[in-house]
Amino acid sequence: MDIEFYGATDRVTGSCHLLRCNGHTVLLDCGLIQGSRASAELNRESFPFDAEKIDAVVLSHGHIDHSGRLPLLVSRGYRGDIHCQHATKDLVEILLKDSARLQQQDADYYNRKRKKKDESPRLPLYTEEHANGVFTGLKGHNYKNAFELLPGIEVCFYNAGHILGSAIVEIKLTEGDRQRTLVFSGDIGQYDTPIINDPYPIPHADLLLMESTYGNRIHRKREETVKELGEILAASAKDGGNVLIPAFSIGRSQELLYLLGEHYVDWDMENWQVYLDSPMAIAASKVYWDHPNLYDKEATKFRRDLLDMPTLKNLRLTTSVDESKAIARHKGGAIVIAGSGMCNGGRILHHLKNNLENANSHVIICGYQSPGTLGGRLVRGEEDIKIHGKWLKNNAKIHTVGGLSAHGDQVDLKRWMSGFKNKPELYVVHGNDDGKKGLLELARSSFNWEGNLAVAGQRVKI
Ligand SMILES: [Zn+2]
Repeated sequence: MDIEFYGATDRVTGSCHLLRCNGHTVLLDCGLIQGSRASAELNRESFPFDAEKIDAVVLSHGHIDHSGRLPLLVSRGYRGDIHCQHATKDLVEILLKDSARLQQQDADYYNRKRKKKDESPRLPLYTEEHANGVFTGLKGHNYKNAFELLPGIEVCFYNAGHILGSAIVEIKLTEGDRQRTLVFSGDIGQYDTPIINDPYPIPHADLLLMESTYGNRIHRKREETVKELGEILAASAKDGGNVLIPAFSIGRSQELLYLLGEHYVDWDMENWQVYLDSPMAIAASKVYWDHPNLYDKEATKFRRDLLDMPTLKNLRLTTSVDESKAIARHKGGAIVIAGSGMCNGGRILHHLKNNLENANSHVIICGYQSPGTLGGRLVRGEEDIKIHGKWLKNNAKIHTVGGLSAHGDQVDLKRWMSGFKNKPELYVVHGNDDGKKGLLELARSSFNWEGNLAVAGQRVKI
């Protein structure tokens, strides 16, 4: 039995690993490579395995860097099941449909350019039909409910505390009289994140495959972030303008709504009209509201007190384009949560266009902004901003609020690792160089635990 590292070894995205046991081959995650144009091109390369010969797929969670190449796997002949937690199954359907749409848009954009140069068109990476092929194979499971994936391979999902349905995957392997346990961390969330439970401690593994996104970093304290959000809303109320919050559809949007609901009284929320203006975030929120069994103690109590989620009386879910356009009539008093999270597309652009020149507007940036994106330019305080071909003076107040990451930081990762009673053979993936080295150093200094950097194409005996 062995594991071969294939994706997310020399970058953060594209999570994918191959497990072999008892003559079976199992794929752990099949994520999209994201980032620069050049790295995204890598998605088009052939898999270093035969998609038709994979026996099963196990998926840690819905994020596209873990699930986004599943339609490609289907298009290249995979017809088996894809096992994940129930909520992940629901989120994957939303995410992959959107991803297929974006792939088509991307292809259309390039084909217009290629046509001008008399070049032949190229196909999208995958289509909605391929994504539909994934949905028919999705099999949902409960946390802590071990099941036999294949003879000699037993899988159990535990809550990873990252987004709804996110899982740490424990795989018990039996080959002849050899029994081994592989644990794949997936993405580990922050402790005390609203709505979902903390990462579940795992006491034993023979081999641990561990993410290291923030292996070298410490987030700002959550209480400070929440306090700052309250202060920004108070200042915005005084100014009388609108508040725009670019947010990722899954996880961040729901967390923001939860925080606004939780602080309804102390943040004077009844003076605001809140809009969730993103069809994808609305669909994802419904998945969150449909899985109350996955809430932590506080969210369960909160839900009981308010009878149901969503928790905000003055929340409007604007699905249609007309409803979205109508938000523009607010010259003040509206909080608009819309995608995309980095302002490089989506409805947030219309809201920015309508509000940026107004000095009473506030923009709250609460997620990572890649330097090349519009969000990155806002964070840098650029005064002239171009949206949809039109230059605008950026007079709005831009606030960068840290601390709402869905990823655990060094302190969280250490806390989760301290749950092991033994020191499993450790392989670090899913981080940039500093993150991976930081996590290895953390394991060494905190637990006297020596780990390894996983190398692409490396095969390790379990
Ligand atoms: Zn993730």
